[in-house]
Amino acid sequence: MEKQEFKAESKRLLEMMINSIYTQKEIFLRELLSNSSDAIDKLYYKALTDESVVFDQDSYYIKVVADKQGRTLTLTDTGIGMTKEDLENNLGTIAKSGSLAFKKDNASKDGHDIIGQFGVGFYSAFMVADVVTVISKALGSNEAYKWESTGADGYTIEPCEKDSVGTEVILSIKEDTEDDSYGEYLDDYRLKAIIRKYSDFIKYPIKMETTGK
Ligand code: ADP
Ligand code: MG
Repeated sequence: MEKQEFKAESKRLLEMMINSIYTQKEIFLRELLSNSSDAIDKLYYKALTDESVVFDQDSYYIKVVADKQGRTLTLTDTGIGMTKEDLENNLGTIAKSGSLAFKKDNASKDGHDIIGQFGVGFYSAFMVADVVTVISKALGSNEAYKWESTGADGYTIEPCEKDSVGTEVILSIKEDTEDDSYGEYLDDYRLKAIIRKYSDFIKYPIKMETTGK
């Protein structure tokens, strides 16, 4: 008898994932912070084996900027960055955990370990954002790319400008409720509380800024 593979409707799966896997919307921030932290870890590991890569602990950090007027929340990291192919493979495949593979490869090296979730982490951003834009420049690359998605409808990738290696994730925070229930993710006080709650898992400094009223 021939074994058949299940077919999955990725659009429906993504919707289910966004709406039901996580009961607390705030965890999107934990997921994005852990991805940034993983990306800095990857640079750290690279520096261990590649002399041309210098890892100076002080210049590695994650920045969170909330722009109330523009309704964007931006996470910037100085991690390893992503090539165009990485953007396609890592952000274009739902439930494929790149960090899981990386974690297995590096498990025995030292205590510098990685918080990998189940490969759905990044998409949790769509719980609070209607557009997610990722601007990234990979280590060793001269080109930067912009990945953008409104969620289930797919994504676009185009070349763009970025000076330094690393990744910027820009969330356009939803405004589809009368009481603006998503507005809390642009609020300084609330963001600080969420970051504090999850920062135990992050071993790099997290800088926070808010702009606008
Ligand atoms: P996981 O972290 O479990 O691999 P995610 O959905 O959170 O799954 O992320 C998918 C992949 O996208 C990561 O494995 C990583 O390769 C890539 N990625 C996400 N965010 C970043 C980032 N800030 N810098 C570099 N790569 C990233
Ligand atoms: Mg992750």
